[in-house]
Amino acid sequence: MEMDSPNIGLNRQYLNELEKLECRDATEHGQEPPLVMDKALGSTIWDVEGRSYLDLCAGFGSLPLGHNHPEVVSVVANDLLFLKPPVMQGLGDVHPSVEKVEFLRILLKLLPRELNKASLAVTGSQAVEIAIKTALLATKGDGIIAIKNGYHGLDFGALSLNDRPEFTMPFSKWLVSEKVAHVDFGCQSQAIEQAIDMQARQGIKTAAIIAEPIQGRGGVHLPPSGWLEELYALATKKGMLLIFDEVYTGLGRSGKLTFAHDVPCDLLCLGKAIGGGMPLSACIGTQAVMDYWPESKGEAIHTGTFFGHPLACKVGRLTISLLLREKVIEKSVENGIFLRDLLSEALNSDSRVEKIRGSGMMNAIEFNVKNLAALVMSKLREKGVIAIPAGVQGECLSLTPPLNISRDHLREAVSKIHEVLSTCV
Ligand code: PMP
Repeated sequence: MEMDSPNIGLNRQYLNELEKLECRDATEHGQEPPLVMDKALGSTIWDVEGRSYLDLCAGFGSLPLGHNHPEVVSVVANDLLFLKPPVMQGLGDVHPSVEKVEFLRILLKLLPRELNKASLAVTGSQAVEIAIKTALLATKGDGIIAIKNGYHGLDFGALSLNDRPEFTMPFSKWLVSEKVAHVDFGCQSQAIEQAIDMQARQGIKTAAIIAEPIQGRGGVHLPPSGWLEELYALATKKGMLLIFDEVYTGLGRSGKLTFAHDVPCDLLCLGKAIGGGMPLSACIGTQAVMDYWPESKGEAIHTGTFFGHPLACKVGRLTISLLLREKVIEKSVENGIFLRDLLSEALNSDSRVEKIRGSGMMNAIEFNVKNLAALVMSKLREKGVIAIPAGVQGECLSLTPPLNISRDHLREAVSKIHEVLSTCV
């Protein structure tokens, strides 16, 4: 952790001010004060006091190319300064921007041919809201099957899909929990059929099943082989839609552009990486399904002021072209193998490490000691590394660095994790 320009005390000052200004749920001001981020480049973040940190989180997985890829920055800056004054706000459902069209063109070209109609939004949770509404319109159903320990965001529609009481209980009076049945990740088809039957007995027609192909926030759980295919077969047989929530996995994080290239789905939710760090998300569906939305007659029935934000679309488009040109998805696969091999070598004799798992640059170390992941996170931070816990009980340390992080940075990360673990006794 280098000190560029010691500015001791500034972090605390900002935090004290923030604590006064912001809702207390928004930032954790626990025993371990958060760092106040000031600038970032590649896989490095600097706090306001000038300390540098190796970023193994990459904006919760939303920065596939790391912070401020020079080419993205130079195109955006050049446009802003010299070429043309950009359209900053897109008048969502009224007058579209050039950038929205160009973004959709490149995004849809990447996806399976059948997924050819998109609806843009700002956050991952909003992409899920669109998927839920689409499923209700398309099937005239009202029930959803979701996966235990999944995560789909915290807006009201998406929130009902979560089965984590800490998120749902405070708002339970407003939730439609009775419309959602939860089955285990990787369960047998019979369990889903039973859930559908149970909904039917309650007068609920199941509209869709929603699943993360890899459960991310739940602890980076990989699907058993053939499970996603079974979900699709069952959804088709039962006349329900299959929704893949790839807000986390999508665009290379898991080492694949999308699981939809391997297994068909009716709706695909993308977020995080598609904006290259800017707030942008999308629900993409087959035309047959998306055409259940009515034609807009001047007032869309689902829209938002910032949906398809032009600047976010521009950064998203540049990010996608660089992902392709610099073969970053291939790098995600190779770096993921390299990282997991290093981790296994360094940690395999540590009995507190239950499992090291992942796919591409979506990885987790699961511990079998309570609160160890949080302790490791905080000690790593003292050593200039940012990583966060994952898993329903916070039992994992999640490692989701930029997909193109350097091998040296990965070596440094593993060596610091090893060092820190040896001090946690
Ligand atoms: N779906 C999945 C699979 C996610 O991982 C997340 C965020 N972690 C969301 C939805 C919600 O995205 P956002 O926080 O942008 O609303």
